[in-house]
Amino acid sequence: MSAQRIGWHDYFMNIARQAATRSTCDRKNVGAVIVRDRTILSTGYNGSIRGTPHCDEVGHLMEGGHCIATIHAETNAILQAAKNGINISHAEIYTTASPCWNCFKMLVNAGIQRIYYGEFYRDKRSLEVARGLGIELVGLLGDDRTEPDQGKKGDSHEG
Ligand SMILES: [Zn+2]
Ligand SMILES: [Zn+2]
Repeated sequence: MSAQRIGWHDYFMNIARQAATRSTCDRKNVGAVIVRDRTILSTGYNGSIRGTPHCDEVGHLMEGGHCIATIHAETNAILQAAKNGINISHAEIYTTASPCWNCFKMLVNAGIQRIYYGEFYRDKRSLEVARGLGIELVGLLGDDRTEPDQGKKGDSHEG
């Protein structure tokens, strides 16, 4: 008997986690992988503008409680595709943390149809808008209690 193979979700999320290890801003290490038909089209991690020093070397550029020095993983994955002339329309993205509002907007307009995320990260607005647009935001951490419920409406705050 062969060892049990991991599923596709785990496979791509593991690769996203691997991409996250290249992140240069330790405030949040995020990795993302854009996929269509089980084929990787592009990857990204959060890091500084190409050619500028990393947060890890010169410190963060803080504004409003967030580091704004970096381009986020999801956006970098879109940009890597653009740079190489790869069509990502109707693709899916695996990202280790759910997208921030800015990344979410860009993913939508880049034609991404489904967003698989690891941990849920701060932006509930995307959930509402995604629902209205028919874009799926799917949490892959089954045991994550902080994950918002996709199916039910209403308040589910606990504690
Ligand atoms: Zn930073
Ligand atoms: Zn973002």
